[in-house]
Amino acid sequence: MQSWQVAVWERLQQQHDRGSLAHAYLAYGEQGIGKFDLLRHFARYLLCKSPVTGSLCGTCVNCALAEGGAHPDVLIVAPEEGSRDIKIDQIRSLAEFVARTSHSGLMKVIVINQAHQLNVAAANSLLKTLEEPASKTVLFLVTERPGSLPATLRSRCQRLQFATPAIGVTADWLTAKGLTASDALTLATAAGSRPLYALALAERDGVNGAQDFLRQLSRLLQSQSLLQHCVAVALKLGEAVAVEYLLRASTIVIRSLSQEEEPGDQVLAEVLHNLRAAAVRKEELLRKLLAFNALAEQAQREVHGSTNPNPQLLLESLLWQWSKLGPVRHSSRARG
Ligand SMILES: [Zn+2]
Repeated sequence: MQSWQVAVWERLQQQHDRGSLAHAYLAYGEQGIGKFDLLRHFARYLLCKSPVTGSLCGTCVNCALAEGGAHPDVLIVAPEEGSRDIKIDQIRSLAEFVARTSHSGLMKVIVINQAHQLNVAAANSLLKTLEEPASKTVLFLVTERPGSLPATLRSRCQRLQFATPAIGVTADWLTAKGLTASDALTLATAAGSRPLYALALAERDGVNGAQDFLRQLSRLLQSQSLLQHCVAVALKLGEAVAVEYLLRASTIVIRSLSQEEEPGDQVLAEVLHNLRAAAVRKEELLRKLLAFNALAEQAQREVHGSTNPNPQLLLESLLWQWSKLGPVRHSSRARG
């Protein structure tokens, strides 16, 4: 368990000790902070034959089975490979799992990851299961978008909020994973302080990928002629990551601007400097940045939604809007 998850863990553990675990939980919080990992660990704890002071023993037969990912009393549900949706067949199997007797004689635990990807038929089918709760069975719906789940499903779940750790906590955690302090801070910032997401970025693009893209964003504010180059760099990163960076970068500079603070990250400080050079009033700049931020949020929804937007067009449009945040440029040929 991670340091930023202690509160959630203790709450679940105490409910279990008191025999007051809910039948279903809506486990929500930002993507990339370790919700699923914690709940999988809690599933193992529930099945451990001899837990020691709030922790699983790691050696009993149930711990061994669960460690290998093969415990018959744990069911993990997520979109299958190549599919965005969780489908009704998967929920039918879940209903069979609920109806079965527990192998261990202890609990049965279901963790539905990416629960916002349940399609309509699957969600309706799951609702029927939730309407008739089975004893000694607990279900976790894990999602970063709780609002995307039907209200009928949400209302049957106890809410379990996962907090995003502070930037310092995330940076320390990344440092412990082997990153230098400076790289850790850069990535923690770029990832909105989401530790697992930051680590995934580090493994995929390296710190240089993040820094390079942010630097391109800074330059794009000075010269719109870099648009196509910037689009190419963004496409290399992948549209989801690039949109994420644009959203985070704009969020951070908005915060810095409104609180009159310099961003902790050097490249973002440069971005803010270039934005200020746009020589408009602060209120005007903030208004433009907020409008851009809303566009980036919309783009993020499209990237993760089911409409499959064209990455090239999406990034061109978003980066064009970004470039327009820079100083107004007059044509060099203009006279008088
Ligand atoms: Zn055990």
